[in-house]
Formats: sequence, C-alpha cells, structure tokens
Amino acid sequence: MSEPILKIEDLDVRYATSQALFGVSVDVAPGSVLAVLGANGAGKSTLARAISGLVRPFGGRVVFDGRDITGKSAHHVRRLGLTYIPEGRGVFPGLTVIDNLKMAVAQEKRNDRAPAIDRAIDMFPVLGSRRSQLAGSLSGGEQQMLALARAVAVLPKLIIADEMSLGLAPQIVEAVFQSLEETRRAGVTIVLSEQFVHRALSLADTCVILSRGRVGWSGPASEAGTEVIDRYLGDAEHPAPAAS
Ligand code: ATP
Repeated sequence: MSEPILKIEDLDVRYATSQALFGVSVDVAPGSVLAVLGANGAGKSTLARAISGLVRPFGGRVVFDGRDITGKSAHHVRRLGLTYIPEGRGVFPGLTVIDNLKMAVAQEKRNDRAPAIDRAIDMFPVLGSRRSQLAGSLSGGEQQMLALARAVAVLPKLIIADEMSLGLAPQIVEAVFQSLEETRRAGVTIVLSEQFVHRALSLADTCVILSRGRVGWSGPASEAGTEVIDRYLGDAEHPAPAAS
C-alpha cells in the first residue's frame, strides 16, 4: 500500500491498575477507512485515545503523516490534522449549532473561520436549517452529524470516530454512516470504532479486531467473514437497545 498516513507500532497502554493494549500494530493508508472492532472492554477506545494524545502510551510508537506523535498532547496532535470525535456525542448541548461550529474553528486564523463553517454546513446541509437550535435539542443522529461537521470544519487529514452510533436507533445509525461516507468522499482518512459490525465493515477498507487488548485479526474489511466475526465478536452485532 502507499505510505501509511498513520502507523501504530507495537503500542502498549497501561492504566494505573491494568494494561489495556499489548503490542498493537496497524497501518492506515491515506484516504482509507479503518474499522476498529472488538467486544466491550477490548481496547477500542483506549486505542483511539492513545492515537489522539489523550492517553500516553507506555510503549511503542504512533507516527502520523510522517511525524512521531507518541506521547504528544491532544492539542499538538490536533494541530497536525488529526481530529478525535469522542464516544457519545462530541457536541456542546447547551450551545446552538452555529456556536458549536464557531467553537470548533476558534483556533483557526480569523479569516479562515467563516469559510470553515460554510464548508461544514455545505457538507451537512441539514445543520444549516438548524443554525439557531440548541445542539442538545437535535436528534441523536443530527448531533453526530454536528460532531462530524465540527471535525471536518478544520480540514483534518484524519478523523478518529469513537463509537459514533452508540445508543442510536438503526435508521439513525444509517444517517451517521452516510455522513461518514460523505466525509470519506472529501478525502479524509477515517479510523472508526464501531459496534455495528457489518455496517462498519461495509464502509471500511481495512479492519482490525481487538481481543483483550491484542490484535486478534487484521486485514481487508472484505475478508472479515462470518467465521472471523463469530470468533472474535460473538454477539457484538446485537448492541443494547437504542434510545433516540
Ligand atoms: P467499550 O466498547 O465497552 O467502550 P473498549 O473496547 O472501548 O470498550 P476500553 O474502554 O478501551 O475498551 O477499555 C479497555 C480496558 O481498559 C478495559 O478493561 C477497561 O476497563 C480499561 N480501562 C479503560 N479506561 C480506563 C481507565 N481510565 N482507568 C483504568 N482502566 C481503564
């Protein structure tokens, strides 16, 4: 494959009382989508946080766009073009849609801010008609769209989306995946941790399945067949009942 935009090499992450990742290695090609799958507690969020600078790895290396970012701060990593969307809803519920977008671009140069917001709204037009609405009163799917819009506004090279579909009803999950497709079409590389295994695999180019903090399986998403899914994910395809 072409030179990876993200290289994770032999990554170990420890929390105070336990180790969450053991020697995890994975490469992500520019413009591709990597699905990170695994049962509850397998280490998906830890991997997302370690790449994004929110958790300091104990060992190993993370190289992004040719730079070693191991142990760098989340702020530093974000400035290099790697944006993290946290699990749940990465929006400020008490602010309007437009204020959420303004917050997202607050660190951009003054003249770049308005075009960045326009670009995000062009990509997700439904947000344009809801500019003045409080983010907390949007549907779950619209809030995730806003989270993605906040991420794409700053023209990231790579987005890490941690369980964006968590707690959403299946038809809303589909809208979230459509938004991710849209983001990919804009040329952004995506690392996606997901509980909707089959939908994630249909979007992804490559897949890594974590099992108790280790890489259980990795390869092209199209090759993650029933046997692999049953072996590593069991009933993970049947997530808990959804709210909105
Ligand atoms: P889920 O799908 O349930 O969110 P996950 O695959 O994202 O799970 P992580 O949240 O990365 O898994 O957790 C991996 C392991 O690390 C778990 O055993 C978890 O209990 C542990 N862990 C996660 N965060 C912390 C923390 N802040 N302190 C201590 N242990 C933690």
